[in-house]
Amino acid sequence: MARLSTHDAIIIGAGPAGTSVALTLARRGWAVAIVEKSAFPRRKVCGEYMSASNLALLDQLEIGEAWRANAGPEIRRVGFFSGETCVEAPMPHAKDGPRANDGHCAKDGFGRALGRDILDCLLLQSARSAGVEIFQPCRAVAIDRDGEMQMVRIQAGNETTMLRAPVIVAAHGSWEPGPLPSQPGKTNRPSDLLGFKAHFTGSSLAPDLMPLLAFPGGYGGMVSADHGRLSISCCIRRDMLARLRTHHGPKHQSRVSAADAVCRHLMESCRGVRDALESAHADGAWLAAGPIRPGIRSCYERDIFRVGNAAGESHPIIAEGISMALQSGWLLASELASAPDGRAGREAAGKRYEAAWKRLFSTRVYAAAALAGIALSPGSATLMAAIVRNFPQALTLGAQLSGKTKPVPGFV
Ligand SMILES: Cc1cc2nc3c(=O)[nH]c(=O)nc-3n(C[C@H](O)[C@H](O)[C@H](O)COP(=O)(O)OP(=O)(O)OC[C@H]3O[C@@H](n4cnc5c(N)ncnc54)[C@H](O)[C@@H]3O)c2cc1C
Repeated sequence: MARLSTHDAIIIGAGPAGTSVALTLARRGWAVAIVEKSAFPRRKVCGEYMSASNLALLDQLEIGEAWRANAGPEIRRVGFFSGETCVEAPMPHAKDGPRANDGHCAKDGFGRALGRDILDCLLLQSARSAGVEIFQPCRAVAIDRDGEMQMVRIQAGNETTMLRAPVIVAAHGSWEPGPLPSQPGKTNRPSDLLGFKAHFTGSSLAPDLMPLLAFPGGYGGMVSADHGRLSISCCIRRDMLARLRTHHGPKHQSRVSAADAVCRHLMESCRGVRDALESAHADGAWLAAGPIRPGIRSCYERDIFRVGNAAGESHPIIAEGISMALQSGWLLASELASAPDGRAGREAAGKRYEAAWKRLFSTRVYAAAALAGIALSPGSATLMAAIVRNFPQALTLGAQLSGKTKPVPGFV
């Protein structure tokens, strides 16, 4: 017989989106459960850069000080590495620093990178301190309606528990297919983009520089993160990766590992990567994920609220996914906390949240899609290189358009 426990809200997934909504609701007196399938700390495919515009929100979530103490150096320059081209330009400053509701003005004007093995733990610890009940490692496998309530079936090994709540939040990301109505189906197209990421130590990349990488079949980025680690991440087309993995030796064809193929391709096609990694050492294995699914989805569907990547995702070429995850969690929690009880109240909150989501993030999603489209079309890396060589300010403008200086509503 499965155990049963009742809450005001059940959050599925403890990435930045899930913990942001869980923490905010718990601080407003809600009884919240969070379900996370992985044991923490865990590494994750992600470049790990976060813009400074989130700092006031992190302060509100009570991890601002820990983030400042642990994150890597301030990123004051944005770059472009492709082929032999290495160009850089100033990173735009989050003007006057973000300002919290209490009028406190933070001085952090530039983004920094913090490993997801650390960031996600800090957020989850803060949620635990705020009274959130954490089910981990535990996978949500089904959601069923039960009158005004919904039932979420969660599994840890052979043990099943039923959680019951009127509010369900899908914060499980968007890259893994699964049985929940908010999870994507399986796809396998040659144009799919697969995500890769690794940490290195001993890199010679300038600590305040974050270059965008453009190479045949994909794009990526590098940034100095916490504790001397370099985070390198990229997206590559499935068909390009298949080609790279087939090694044509003198006598026969063989397959190299996906990680080796990606690493070699990055080094061969970007001088800047080659130089940065020349005397660096891998810190842990390469990770892979995807296919990624950029685009705007639904924020509220079939009585399930969605935050973070589950609601919508920009191409990671602009490194804004963590910001969108944290901020969408905050937006949803603010709407839910002020909504009247009952289904009509939830539906009205869902509509207001969706409108706020689109106002805040749509431009970023479209700007990233346009930039990724250029980076991925054959030969265009050469064109991009020519443009930024002659007009490096385009990099600063691109960073601005991607939302790096956009304040979070409620924190201006
Ligand atoms: C190559 C690459 C580089 C990137 N670089 C950056 C960057 O530099 N900066 C940036 O801001 N963004 C970056 N991003 C994007 C960023 O990683 C995501 O947008 C962000 O992680 C989304 O957060 P989330 O909370 O929505 O989902 P996630 O972080 O994916 O968290 C979802 C959580 O849900 C859990 N989960 C999934 N299914 C279940 C289930 N059934 N039951 C219980 N738990 C479940 C997962 O284990 C996971 O912990 C990058 C992405 C890629 C692919």
